[in-house]
Amino acid sequence: MKLSSLILGGVVAVAVIAVLMAVLGVSFHTPTSLQGAALYDPSKEIKVQGTVTGVEEFDCPVSEGELGVHLTLKTTDGTFQVHLAPSRILQGQRLAFVAGDQVQVLGSQVRVNGKKGIIVRELVRGRDSYIFRDPAGNLLMVQ
Ligand SMILES: [Zn+2]
Repeated sequence: MKLSSLILGGVVAVAVIAVLMAVLGVSFHTPTSLQGAALYDPSKEIKVQGTVTGVEEFDCPVSEGELGVHLTLKTTDGTFQVHLAPSRILQGQRLAFVAGDQVQVLGSQVRVNGKKGIIVRELVRGRDSYIFRDPAGNLLMVQ
């Protein structure tokens, strides 16, 4: 009897947490309904290279509403907003970018907030290369 009420209590607690998460999720809502890896379209992959002209952090659907790091990348094909990964992950990896960095980016084209962008799968800077996502767009880096 006590055990069953304990289990029931656990189920109720899980349900309450699920509802809370759903409610909190709504506050992160952006015009696009897709988030994270769902935004990654392997058929839209491109490779560009250019110069980083700015680094920006903002809440982004690519990072599932989390604060994400973005590069403004000037290339011969125009300027792209490059979506890297959630800020906490880059901090955990001690990975930072600055204006003036020369980088090569492979990733899926995406449009967020009306800006032409790329979700990075692989990035090369100098002799270093970084794998951010698998071919399906799932984030490989961990905190
Ligand atoms: Zn982003």
